[in-house]
Amino acid sequence: MESTGYPPSMPSALLDALYAWLPVLEPRARRRRRTLALPFPAGWEEILQAEVPFWSRLSESRRARARPMIHAFVAEHRWVGAHGLEVSEEMQVVVAACAVRPVLNLGLEYYDHLSEIVLYAHDQLTVPEHGQGVLGLAHQHGVIVLSWPAVQEGLQSPTDGHDTALHEFVHLLDLADGSFDGAPPLRRAEDVGPWARTLAARFEAMREGSHTVLRDYAAHSPPEFFAVASEHFFERPAELRRAAPDLYAQLKRFYGWDPGRRAPTKVRR
Ligand SMILES: [Zn+2]
Repeated sequence: MESTGYPPSMPSALLDALYAWLPVLEPRARRRRRTLALPFPAGWEEILQAEVPFWSRLSESRRARARPMIHAFVAEHRWVGAHGLEVSEEMQVVVAACAVRPVLNLGLEYYDHLSEIVLYAHDQLTVPEHGQGVLGLAHQHGVIVLSWPAVQEGLQSPTDGHDTALHEFVHLLDLADGSFDGAPPLRRAEDVGPWARTLAARFEAMREGSHTVLRDYAAHSPPEFFAVASEHFFERPAELRRAAPDLYAQLKRFYGWDPGRRAPTKVRR
């Protein structure tokens, strides 16, 4: 018999009734399993096709993997509109797609420290310690703040190497181990050394002024280097692979797939 993850003395139907009455009590992992098994909500595919240009560039096998994750991501987080913005279902689906793309092969567990997504209506935000012109913020305390117009603008050109939402979600991956240092938790211990050496060498070379395909902001700090390199990895993979094959290989190993190659179509016999 397969384990159900809760004591056999507590029937599932009873737990379902309890969690329906007070959903806040339901553990995230249990809610995630339940949401992942549900059908993809009607109309969401149309939203993705209309509003998320990178969606149609993914192979069908990757889209099939992403759909239940998008559903779970929307269900698992608190969505807050700031400065008068009312968060619509469309906004949730679009932001969730941006969040899921980098964790397609890592799993939603990388966002277990995230609880709240704040969207605001302005182009830019002024944050005391970050100055003016902030498009998004990934906060250590489980909150991500995004300018909705900046999210939309970042998605408009799926091959320009610039995507605000992706950038902020990569910061959250960086923060998944509690430190904001340009090194996300890697799945294999033996990957830590090569990751640290490669990214540090590329970051230092950029600081010293060597030519790079990454935009200048990557030279700001190791976390920004990781985020900007990831934007390039997903949006301009061929260029990054040519210009920095070692960096590309590290990102490919971490994210667990190669955006520069379409997944082979499975042939069923
Ligand atoms: Zn950043």
